[in-house]
Amino acid sequence: MRIPKISYVNGRYVPYTQASIGIEDRGNVFSDGAYEGIALINGKLLDLNEHFERLQYSLNILSIKSPMKFPVMKIIINELARRNKVTDGFVYLQISRGNAMRNHQFPNPAPNASLIITIHDPRKPSAKLLENGINVVTHPDLRMKRRDAKTISLLPNIQAKQYAIENEATESWLFEENGKITEGSASNAFIIDDIDTIITHPENQSILGGITRMKILQLARKNSINVREEAFSTEDIKSAKEAFASSTTMRIMPVTKIDGEPVNDGKVGKITKQLIALYDNYIREQT
Ligand code: PMP
Repeated sequence: MRIPKISYVNGRYVPYTQASIGIEDRGNVFSDGAYEGIALINGKLLDLNEHFERLQYSLNILSIKSPMKFPVMKIIINELARRNKVTDGFVYLQISRGNAMRNHQFPNPAPNASLIITIHDPRKPSAKLLENGINVVTHPDLRMKRRDAKTISLLPNIQAKQYAIENEATESWLFEENGKITEGSASNAFIIDDIDTIITHPENQSILGGITRMKILQLARKNSINVREEAFSTEDIKSAKEAFASSTTMRIMPVTKIDGEPVNDGKVGKITKQLIALYDNYIREQT
């Protein structure tokens, strides 16, 4: 992977290898911050307003004041792309509560929040995975109960992802004590039942409201594909006709094996293919 040339840190464009923030930054010592991952495609930031809206939502939950207004942030992201000479990439944007002597309570007065932006290589789903689908394993959802905030506090997510990697899978689907799947470690989770209805966990405090998820559901409804926003269980997976995952980086990723059991005989399903085509078309229109 190419190392980005220039990053943005707290008001400055700096060479990536020299970019740094204070050692007592609250993001560093407490994971006290929020982030967004945004696709830059053909020089356009896909669904940028939706990402900013979600960022504001996360910051509100954390009571962090954005260090700047979003139109300014947009200018900075575009300037960063220009300085890195890229029109396609994955933009990582992080805001933490800022630098303060370590103390659990919010520092008073509040320091300026820290803002970090980096642009990495585009994270496109591999053609092979799109064609064959990915393996998913189920794993307990050990996260805090405000999963609607996109915080940088991701320890249970990375542990669940690592569990997938160590078990010949690409993603973990997280289940609660009642057996209901919430979402993936870094993606939203969907199954399709025998009457071609898409089923996915409703958007509430138990999941991150994925931007890709939102767009998929809009496209499905517009194209007369039925959607049920209802939690499905590890049991329901066994009778699912199709399954897929969604995220900014994976887009729509077919799931063809869950806990070692094939879904749709291990083949990418019809509705999943239709959704991929609809979403690809949406991206083309937007970029
Ligand atoms: N859920 C979790 C836990 C995630 O980390 C992500 C990706 N950031 C998603 C869902 C998907 O969100 P989006 O479609 O906005 O990338």
